[in-house]
Amino acid sequence: MVHRERRRHRRQPCLYCHPQSYIRMVQHLIERCLVFHMTRDDCIQALAKHASAQPVVTLTVWEELLNKNKSFFQVYYRVVPQSHPEYKPSERFSEGTQQIAMR
Ligand SMILES: [Zn+2]
Repeated sequence: MVHRERRRHRRQPCLYCHPQSYIRMVQHLIERCLVFHMTRDDCIQALAKHASAQPVVTLTVWEELLNKNKSFFQVYYRVVPQSHPEYKPSERFSEGTQQIAMR
C-alpha cells in the first residue's frame, strides 16, 4: 500500500510509521464507542468519518478486542442489538438494562 498519510502525522499516529500507536488509538476510540453502546458497524463508520480510520483496521481491532473480552461482548451484543441500526443509543441502553433487570 502506498504511504499517503504524511499530512496527518501531526494530528494522529500514522498506521504505516507507527502501527502500534495507531492500533492503540483505534482501540481507544472503539472503547469510547462501546461506552456509547454503538454497534460494530456504527463504530466502523464513526471512526472512518472522525478519525479517518480504515474500516478494515477498525474491524481487525474490534475482532481482537472481542477475542480478548469474550464474556464482555456476549453481554454487549445482547444489550446492543446489532441488527437494529434505527435505534438510538439511548433507546438501546434502556432496552438493554431492562433485559438485564429481567434476568
Ligand atoms: Zn507515516
